[in-house]
Amino acid sequence: MPNEIKNVLLVFSGKGGVGKSTVATNLAVALSQKGLRVGLLDADIHGPNLALMLGVQDKETLSYGEDLIMPIEVNENLFLISVSYLIPETDTPIIWRGPAKMKLIEKFVNQIDWGDLDYLIVDAPPGTGDEPLSIAQLLPGAKAVVITTPQDVSLLDSMKAINFAKKLKLEIVGLIENMSGYKCPHCGKIVDLFKSGGGEKIAQKYGIPFLGAIPIDPKVVISGDSGHPIVKDNDSSTAKIFLSLADIIIKDK
Ligand code: ADP
Repeated sequence: MPNEIKNVLLVFSGKGGVGKSTVATNLAVALSQKGLRVGLLDADIHGPNLALMLGVQDKETLSYGEDLIMPIEVNENLFLISVSYLIPETDTPIIWRGPAKMKLIEKFVNQIDWGDLDYLIVDAPPGTGDEPLSIAQLLPGAKAVVITTPQDVSLLDSMKAINFAKKLKLEIVGLIENMSGYKCPHCGKIVDLFKSGGGEKIAQKYGIPFLGAIPIDPKVVISGDSGHPIVKDNDSSTAKIFLSLADIIIKDK
């Protein structure tokens, strides 16, 4: 990597749909709002959604020099590169065979002109297969943040993700339980739609830090779909959780 990148965080999950991209995006925005210079690499090559979540899907990336690619400027401190800029239509799946995918991943990791960064946040492909493996191997010194939801089916997969990170000798910053409880807008009671608390137990069992729990919040969906990450909403209690998670991550360095 030609630039100085102080911290690399790989956001992992054992399975898709648990909010990995949502967490990666909101953490990146939170860190950038705190004045840090942040790169966000959307390496989820089968489901690249970060440009949409940040409202920059219509921009175009530029290549120059020896194939270096300029990331998109989301704000003065936040820069994004996504595989979605390389595929012509948003509904086109990537059906490339292994070696072509690995080439793409390598290009993504090595040929982006980020400039110097305080944080590079990588939204890794879900699971514990070849693609997250290549990304981890291409980014020595990267640390892992594991995202799970509270249901047993997700917790089981997140245990695999934790062991995967351990086998690769990645330092694990910790585990985040997303979609943890739902506050009823009518009575204010917390309803554990998908259960809650399993993430913390798993973190204890594997001896890794539990970073916190993010509730189910319909505003997360609306804000993600409209390109305005929830963390920018000053009135949102979920935004405050993302900001405090960013503080925990900053302290971990
Ligand atoms: P993944 O990257 O793990 O596949 P996404 O971040 O794309 O998951 O999230 C899947 C869906 O769940 C999206 O529609 C997103 O807005 C929604 N979502 C994620 N986290 C929450 C949450 N805490 N509350 C409500 N919806 C959420």
